[in-house]
Amino acid sequence: MTGRGQASSGDLLELVRTGRATTRGALQQATGLSRATVGQRLDRLFRAGWLREGAGGPVDSPLGGRPSITLEFDDAHAVLLAADLDTRHARAAVLTLTGEILAEHSGTLVVEDGPDAVLGELGGWFAELLEKAGHRAEEVGGIGLAVPGPVDNETGRVVQPPIMPGWDGYDIRGRLARAFAERTGRATKVPVLVDNDANLMAYGEQRAGHPDCSAFVLVKVSTGIGAGVVVDGSVFRGIDGGAGDIGHIRVPEGADSLCRCGSYGCLAAVASGGAVARKLTEAGIRAASGSDVRDLLASGHPEAAALAREAGRRVGDVLATVVTLLNPGVLMIAGDLAGTPFLTGVRELLYQRALPRSTARLDVVTSRLGERAALVGAGAMVVEHLYAPERVEERLLALGV
Ligand SMILES: [Zn+2]
Repeated sequence: MTGRGQASSGDLLELVRTGRATTRGALQQATGLSRATVGQRLDRLFRAGWLREGAGGPVDSPLGGRPSITLEFDDAHAVLLAADLDTRHARAAVLTLTGEILAEHSGTLVVEDGPDAVLGELGGWFAELLEKAGHRAEEVGGIGLAVPGPVDNETGRVVQPPIMPGWDGYDIRGRLARAFAERTGRATKVPVLVDNDANLMAYGEQRAGHPDCSAFVLVKVSTGIGAGVVVDGSVFRGIDGGAGDIGHIRVPEGADSLCRCGSYGCLAAVASGGAVARKLTEAGIRAASGSDVRDLLASGHPEAAALAREAGRRVGDVLATVVTLLNPGVLMIAGDLAGTPFLTGVRELLYQRALPRSTARLDVVTSRLGERAALVGAGAMVVEHLYAPERVEERLLALGV
């Protein structure tokens, strides 16, 4: 419950939405509110269209007496938009409030073209996707955006992003909301939330596949290398969004390798998808990016596999420290390089270097949501924002209920 006093409508909605209390009786028990007060607060949520009575029929009340009707979050009253920007490629989707993808598009979008052009183009993608999904712009509850750089959670702006030239401190939220309004004619301002891609992938994957894991780490190895950490169900960001930015840790093998951040010796300069692509090119094998390496790995290319395994060893060495510090239950490897050779390399060094105690119950796994992980995570971030108990009251008043 939110601090002082009685549970609000927002608190009741949260209890229902998270499945912790799904009948009137269970809500009374969880909040200590009277039956009449629970009824009044639920009434507002019904009128807003945010709650509905379940299709499952009555269940036995925990307080005894007559069976009670189950309550559900009504996910039909709004839709979400989400996008995942990589350096040269992006993916966007319309999602339901419960994370189901209704329409999806992926294509070329070059981060180096700068935020004004990229976000303007994305506004057009969103307009087309909404049309394809058969929804109106006014039905959009919010937009979630994943970017390949560190994000200040308060402002939604990227902070000194090594692989996003021209984006530092740019008002991403404002520009994307404007682009969306221009393309769709939406009259009211749409909420836009921005976070780092590895954070959102970790959030999406943890919720979808490992909801009981209280310490979850995801490492994305594509053009760059980044990690997302989910502790007790929330993304751990650090004090200014920099947590998990492991790609620019100096590694001894990298002394001569120039990183895209301008420094020498970063982990990303020797073990990312981009670094493997460069080494393949030096060996006369065509590979311009992490996604080219992914294609080579998928076809079982032996040099690509050997280099991916070596990259895995280097990342595994750094992850030994990460695992010792955080003692996670799940370490998920995602991104272009995620596959057997890379994982084999990670495991070799991880189990060699980390304390046995910190790896005894650790599962090293690959992604479950694949290329959609950040989209699903971005959608979930928007839902948590829109229906946070402290925001619900304000939004109900705005709806006039
Ligand atoms: Zn670097």
